[in-house]
Amino acid sequence: VTAFKGKRLALFGLGGSGLVSAQALKAGGAEVAVWDDKDSARETAKAKGLEVLDLSQADWSQFCALVLAPGVPLTHPKPHWTVEKARAAGIEIIGDIELFCRERRLIAPKSPFVAITGTNGKSTTTALVAHLFQTFGYEVAIGGNIGTPILALEPPSPTRVHVIECSSFQIDLTPTLDPWVGVLLNITPDHLDRHGTMENYAAIKARLVMGADKAVICLDDEPCVAIAETLRQKHKPSTFVSISHPELRDGIILDGTTLVRHVDGGSVVIADLAGIASLRGRHNGQNAAAAVAALGAHGYNLDLVRKGLESFPGLPHRLEEVGRLGNVLFVNDSKATNADAAEKALLSFENIFWILGGKPKAGGIDPLRPLFGKIAKGYLIGEASEAFAATIGDAFPLERCGTLDVATAAAARDADASALPDPIVLLSPACASYDQFPDFEKRGDKFRELARAIIGRSG
Ligand code: ADP
Repeated sequence: VTAFKGKRLALFGLGGSGLVSAQALKAGGAEVAVWDDKDSARETAKAKGLEVLDLSQADWSQFCALVLAPGVPLTHPKPHWTVEKARAAGIEIIGDIELFCRERRLIAPKSPFVAITGTNGKSTTTALVAHLFQTFGYEVAIGGNIGTPILALEPPSPTRVHVIECSSFQIDLTPTLDPWVGVLLNITPDHLDRHGTMENYAAIKARLVMGADKAVICLDDEPCVAIAETLRQKHKPSTFVSISHPELRDGIILDGTTLVRHVDGGSVVIADLAGIASLRGRHNGQNAAAAVAALGAHGYNLDLVRKGLESFPGLPHRLEEVGRLGNVLFVNDSKATNADAAEKALLSFENIFWILGGKPKAGGIDPLRPLFGKIAKGYLIGEASEAFAATIGDAFPLERCGTLDVATAAAARDADASALPDPIVLLSPACASYDQFPDFEKRGDKFRELARAIIGRSG
């Protein structure tokens, strides 16, 4: 990053992206003083030749900016001390995506850069947009919140499409976010612990589409509808997308399971998602509609769009098909760490042998009651077992299994013996994993391994 050549910056938070940012700034001729509260992180930085400086004791008038890791509180519930220092010194507070945006304006202005946000569906849509551009033959750099830090990717270039997932934390640290295409999927209450109010949270997400050359926005919740209205008033080039308003006259909608483009009073069928396992469920209809809209004019090449949608492998741990034992399908939805996400899974199937539980979250599974009729039997694991059993009552049969291996074996046994058509063994826990696993990925990996072993033994 050459945008800060000759300048001196402070950087706090040496996790993956912080370290990469410090190195990129230094390589571009900036001076960076870095700090992290973890000894090991400071050691790593020192070993990489970075200047480690105790920022709590430093004179902040020497810095032109503070580069902050996205997890560090800016305002809510209380600003981090580095934020207070930076504010007192009157310097800007930015993150790695801001560094990328400034670099892009310098070295490849207007290069293809798609930024994607929303409360849910960010990773799926980011992966799908990247896959679609690849299908069109483009070189793609994918990263941001989804994995590789943005500054560890190849630099912006007119011939390379950057597809970047942005969390609200990252947008908050990107004051001049100006993507080529900005995609906003949905806004529902989440992360209010950090952003305070829903208005503030929505305002942060809105900046991603307001700053874009072209906006893609889904009209399926009130905050997004309000932002779309502002886009209209400001005559921002926008494509509207909806899964709940098939009557939308101009844009891409989901009609049943079919993606349709409405334009100039006519309509064109883009693709039927019914047979695409990686895009199962209405929520994925929203992701697919937004992804196709993000292609702009490329989206009119229907053969290639269909080819891209059909060949999308999907992401692990999100309604991931693991395999079949006879007519029993095993599905790993370990990413469903709350009731909202588990609801999407329950909506996507019938005859479900449901493995649920883990570390409970506020609200429990009460909102899922209307879907209990789809469950053949439940298999409880982890700390949430008793609370969930109380909510479920006798809505469907339950087995207290304790651990994932016991639950998977029991669910496989029952599903295999059942006379129901196309039974599903579904891990969609509606809970965090931390009581029994380091993260949801490890939980899903374990389920996949258990399910494959069961399938292998019988095959
Ligand atoms: P994120 O990156 O925003 O967390 P993911 O693409 O990883 O989103 O999906 C996480 C979970 O969120 C999925 O397992 C699914 O339950 C739910 N989800 C995905 N897309 C949507 C959507 N468009 N609307 C609502 N929920 C969704």
